[in-house]
Amino acid sequence: MRSLVLIGHGSHLNGESAVAAYRYAELIRARGLFDEVIEGYWKEEPSLRQVLKTTASTDVTVIPMFISEGYFTETVIPRELGLGHQGPVPPEGIARVIGGRTVRYTLPYGVHPGMADVIVARAREVLPELGPDGPDDGVETALIVLGHGTTRNENSSRVIYENAARLRERGLFSEVHALFLDEEPRVTGWADLVRAPRVVIVPFFASEGWHTLETIPEELGLSGVVTPFPDTPHGPQQVHYARPVGTHAAVAEVILHLAEEARGAGGPGGDTERGHEAAWQAFLKLARRGARVGELLVTPELGVFEIRNALDEGRPGGDLMTLVTPEGVRDRVRFTDGGEHRPVHTLRSLPRGWRAVLNEADLRRAVHYTYPAVVEETYAHGCHALRPTPWATTARRQTGIYAKVQRAVPEQVERVAERVCGGCLRTRLWAGDRLTHSFLDGVPGGMPCAEACTFLVAEVREEVARKKAAAASDD
Ligand code: SF4
Repeated sequence: MRSLVLIGHGSHLNGESAVAAYRYAELIRARGLFDEVIEGYWKEEPSLRQVLKTTASTDVTVIPMFISEGYFTETVIPRELGLGHQGPVPPEGIARVIGGRTVRYTLPYGVHPGMADVIVARAREVLPELGPDGPDDGVETALIVLGHGTTRNENSSRVIYENAARLRERGLFSEVHALFLDEEPRVTGWADLVRAPRVVIVPFFASEGWHTLETIPEELGLSGVVTPFPDTPHGPQQVHYARPVGTHAAVAEVILHLAEEARGAGGPGGDTERGHEAAWQAFLKLARRGARVGELLVTPELGVFEIRNALDEGRPGGDLMTLVTPEGVRDRVRFTDGGEHRPVHTLRSLPRGWRAVLNEADLRRAVHYTYPAVVEETYAHGCHALRPTPWATTARRQTGIYAKVQRAVPEQVERVAERVCGGCLRTRLWAGDRLTHSFLDGVPGGMPCAEACTFLVAEVREEVARKKAAAASDD
């Protein structure tokens, strides 16, 4: 049995941030090469602290869905997963045994040599004349691999230079340049550098967004996919502007290569993780009788299960939107009825107006999407196996812009927690609160919170920053 975990950044504010990881997980799931494909996030759920607990097997491969190495892939993700490693990840990845699972952590997908193929695939979309040996029409064509670049992280530009060198060797283009938005050599100087009459620009970016849709076209004066430049230092030129590499479906192939390379001679895979399976069997036993889990009502019906918001109990099924897949439930419960993003799924804001009819396997996945890690953590709490992490420990672990939460005094943390956690189903074990009964014992809202979530940490950071700003304006 094998589990694959894709790690995305996620966002507390923007529901779109997690979509790329979901999309790649779906593509890889459909290939059937892993028994399960799970998504985990820095700023959404399941969080990096929880995601390993949600895997069903003892053989877990973790791939960071990042375009280059850097702070997240080298510091934040290894730390939060408990890998006991900080700093550059070796090419063969890192393997550790964590809580009975063998966990293999790889480099981010963006640094895999296979990304050169993704660049070519993107180039071909805007230049169909690009054949296997170069442009079929014989027109000299240059390629610009465009990176963001930052003087703060040399890894960010290294991956651009490496891909440009690989593509130069292939000889598909008469020139290949590595240019950047925020460091030298800048893409704004392309016309002085590039001689070929036709130029393809492929942004080496993780997703479509502000840069790819606005700043790059604006700074270069692009008017669409193909823009003529009649008067440049090397004569008339035509620029073909491609979509970012990170959203191309071929990235799924790169992820699979990474996963295979990380396993090496790893054998047939692991076993079913017993604690995880026991948790879900306890949940299913409850579900077969009908149950409330937080705001969710689970009703067994002729061999399948119906789930809906408990506030919709008694409403005719025809009045509700009927969903039939776990992914359908996922996409519904990620937003409130008002359309606001829900980075913390146990906040009491589960949307209404829908029901899902699911078999037992899909019920598990739908409940995982509705309340990530809650079944596993609640079961572990009932077995006295869930160890709370006090606030001081969580605060000490924070780095970068979050390190300032270490300056929060207990009263500040408590004030923020009252506001944030007051709307959450979970009971704050990390603050010393006690949870004597859980939804597994028939108390719907009984769910443990073992550790302050990243949403609360971010709110405490805001509080510390506000207090500092207020103190400065008083001076
Ligand atoms: S820290 Fe608060 S808001 Fe976050 S999961 Fe725990 S109880 Fe809920």
